[in-house]
Amino acid sequence: MSPTSIKTTCPYCGVGCGIEATLIDPENHIVDIKGDAQHPANFGRLCSKGATLGDTVSLENRLLQPEIDGQTVDWDSALTHVARRFSAIVAEHGPDAVAFYVSGQLLTEDYYVANKLMKGFIGSANIDTNSRLCMSSAVVGYKRAFGADAVPCNYEDLEQAELIVLVGSNTAWCHPVAFQRIRRAKESNPALKIVVIDPRATSTCDIADLHLSIRPGMDALLFNGLLTYLAETESLDRDFIDRHCQDFVPTLLAARASAFDLDEVAAGCGVTAHDVAQLFAWFANHKKVVTVYSQGINQSGSGSDKCNAIINCHLASGKIGKPGCGPFSLTGQPNAMGGREVGGLANMLAAHMDLENPRHVDRVGRFWGSDKVANRQGLKAVELFDAVAEGRVKAVWIMATNPVVSMPDADKVKRALQQCELVVVSDCIANTDTMALAHVKLPATGWSEKDGTVTNLERRISRQRPLFPPSGQARPDWWIISQVARRMGFAGFDYQASADIFREHAALSGFENDSMHGVRAFDISAFADIDQVRFDALQPVQWPVTAKATQGTARLFGDGGFYTPHGRASFVPIVPRGPVHAADAAYQFTLNTGRLRDQWHTMTRTALAAKLNSHKPEPTVEIHPADALQLGFRQQGLARLTSRWGSMLARVDITVSQQPGSVFVPMHWTEQLSSRGRVGALVNPVVDPLSGQPESKQTPVRVEAWQPR
Ligand code: SF4
Repeated sequence: MSPTSIKTTCPYCGVGCGIEATLIDPENHIVDIKGDAQHPANFGRLCSKGATLGDTVSLENRLLQPEIDGQTVDWDSALTHVARRFSAIVAEHGPDAVAFYVSGQLLTEDYYVANKLMKGFIGSANIDTNSRLCMSSAVVGYKRAFGADAVPCNYEDLEQAELIVLVGSNTAWCHPVAFQRIRRAKESNPALKIVVIDPRATSTCDIADLHLSIRPGMDALLFNGLLTYLAETESLDRDFIDRHCQDFVPTLLAARASAFDLDEVAAGCGVTAHDVAQLFAWFANHKKVVTVYSQGINQSGSGSDKCNAIINCHLASGKIGKPGCGPFSLTGQPNAMGGREVGGLANMLAAHMDLENPRHVDRVGRFWGSDKVANRQGLKAVELFDAVAEGRVKAVWIMATNPVVSMPDADKVKRALQQCELVVVSDCIANTDTMALAHVKLPATGWSEKDGTVTNLERRISRQRPLFPPSGQARPDWWIISQVARRMGFAGFDYQASADIFREHAALSGFENDSMHGVRAFDISAFADIDQVRFDALQPVQWPVTAKATQGTARLFGDGGFYTPHGRASFVPIVPRGPVHAADAAYQFTLNTGRLRDQWHTMTRTALAAKLNSHKPEPTVEIHPADALQLGFRQQGLARLTSRWGSMLARVDITVSQQPGSVFVPMHWTEQLSSRGRVGALVNPVVDPLSGQPESKQTPVRVEAWQPR
């Protein structure tokens, strides 16, 4: 008999590559992994992380039994304990005394049930996600401009563009298969121009025709300059602006006020006027332009404004809604988009509805059969852990994430959890820095056992299918949450399978989604009656998927048709702001944090693959040769980095890819993996006032040579 092959989805980045897994020895979790040749995200391609997934599915480091205070217990005891403690704290202190901190690693079905329990039945919006750290500014940008959190583009647009502008995105390392598609497009069309705007000369620059090594944080000034240039050179699409947009004039005036001429923009951005002129001319003169942006834009105290500064330029030139055009944010995580759909953020309801809209709250309440639906925003990630530290949140349930490593001001987060009354952690991994602080440990299924859906960064819903049955006592996250909900006395959590939840999620997306009540972008109502057989066979599809668009929707806004009440897109006037904490005499360098090519988040899985560990085996600090010389550093020496929030050691990597005055440290290492500290402890907890996304790219630090005693 030939081995079974199963089609599923990569659990790492937001590209959402399809995988074909062949079970070689299922009992011993031996599996052969290759790219799914039919999946429209990757057409068979995989990057180093996806290709080594087979090395990460053993039982090493797995949590396989529920535990309370270090004692192994059965599921009933663990679930009853969590339900009783949450109910008691809510009864005594109110619903806002509890919180969930969830993850873009969860499946959409897990996310949906967690959101339903917290917002619909506990009655608080205190559910936030680690996706807050990667894409929440992009959400604000889209909502302000389009009236909905709706990504207009898809990967084919990258292949059809004449110019791709990559801003604050090391696509080559962080979204590698999307980058492979761009590289292939350039190889087959040498006329395709690529511009990279990034303080660092990353691997993405390998294919760039132009690299603007911008001063950290000055992106909004650059795009305000571009808007001014488009107006000055009569490169606007007046017809598109008149028919489909509003607020152009005040936006242009604001742009002109900050970026009057090209020399001023170049000086502010720390790049040459020649390079700025080249970018602007290319943007104006090419019909098909995609601007790709990611963490370098989003992770900023003014990330939302930076997103809108980019979108303004696409609206002004009508470069949106057409093949090869659009502002295209890349989400970091495999299911950050699914979390956005179900409202898995503290400032969203479900199915793109709003907490502050009484009609939406009423609608969701009727759909869920609850009169307790939260009607105001909850605590966003940084606020949430501040509330834990201050004792306002007395019980927190952390699902599939490791905030003791990944949050800014991470030592504070650790102290907060150490003193918290009740910390519940559900995860497939036994030994995370966060799990070490849990009073209750709940074993969740891992990637190779999960069954449900994820949505990638181009709105494409794909099935994640199990390769193996759950190991030990591990259970799906949706099952764990539903069991706690039932023990808290709530109805509507009697799901038997993830298909039941997907069906309900789809039905809610279309529930009263008509023009009388305001149309929502996220609509998959075509799946409202999907049965198990169809769910199992579900092919990758981009939402909206409705009675009118049964095969999904590749591209949005082709006919204008924005999701604002008036149907017009909104220009947003932008006043550029620099980093909140600038480098100063005491902390002279700007610390930038980010991902490596071969590791994922806090390395709980990728560290299991020997091949991946050889790329960068330990935490490094990248520094420019001129700075290294001045500080007396030698290559591979050790440096101590200190900010106002924390400190760590790192191996010195002297490289011209780094701008003078700035350093880069990867985000991945944990206390479990390295005694040298974790970079999250240094990162300042400043957030964008609109999105709540931390400014993880710009923290002032001191850097000194360090010798072991
Ligand atoms: Fe997985 Fe992303 Fe690599 Fe694709 S590009 S294989 S989704 S990590």
